[in-house]
Amino acid sequence: MKLLIILCISTFSFNHVFATETGEEFIYPGGVYVKEISFDQFQNGFHYLDMKVPTLKKNNSYYLLFGIPKDIDLDTRNFNLKNGDEDYVITLNLKKKSFGKQYINISKKFTEPTPDALDRIIRERNILNLARNKWVSSDIDTNFILPVIGQISGVFGTERFYNNKKGNYHNGVDFAASIGTNIVAPSSGKVLLTGDFFYNGKFVYMDHGMNLKSIFIHMNTITVEKGDFVNKGDVIGHVGNTGKSTGPHLHWSVTLNSVYVDPMIFVNNTIIH
Ligand SMILES: [Zn+2]
Repeated sequence: MKLLIILCISTFSFNHVFATETGEEFIYPGGVYVKEISFDQFQNGFHYLDMKVPTLKKNNSYYLLFGIPKDIDLDTRNFNLKNGDEDYVITLNLKKKSFGKQYINISKKFTEPTPDALDRIIRERNILNLARNKWVSSDIDTNFILPVIGQISGVFGTERFYNNKKGNYHNGVDFAASIGTNIVAPSSGKVLLTGDFFYNGKFVYMDHGMNLKSIFIHMNTITVEKGDFVNKGDVIGHVGNTGKSTGPHLHWSVTLNSVYVDPMIFVNNTIIH
């Protein structure tokens, strides 16, 4: 899992008009595809690369929410899913989206970890991978609120260079805020894991239902525990500067079918009409 940093760059527009099943708004790498499905298909469930694809019911209709991988080749047309045991192919015309670059200076302890730190990083990655395969069968509320009040200081998808060396792309959104600022659940869900890891610092990992997940990292304090069910707006902890962080902020990532997507797609949007 990847980790992040504060940078006072970019602004963000809240003027999304969400894609309906026929819409094209978010059909790009790191975006979301919404498709109406039948009740039987809903019952059978969907998987992509062995990961659960979120489905939900709204107004007596059923939908799947497919997270489009950020690093996918733009020429990719077909995504091969499973609906129960049957093949189910999604065909998309991916749009190109520009994400920009960020250059960050950070302690070498993160870019050149010691052997002991590497052992820890691997151990912690395995723990996160185990939690990644867990999800909760419950209704999804896809109309998210912001998890914190703060200036957006890093957007999803930027190419990142740490000490001038290319690292992973930024897989979430950063909010600059003072240490101690409340962090709330953007939607209801179950806490899958909390911890204090080398890169993440203090973090909360939660499932909003059916494998739509959020992770909140670099926290100062955590006020929930593994197994807790939290409602939208409940405080889950406070902003900090722990782990691979260069200043007080919250980093928030969202995954669908274990694919990172832009969290802001879900904020102040009605995903399905
Ligand atoms: Zn970040």
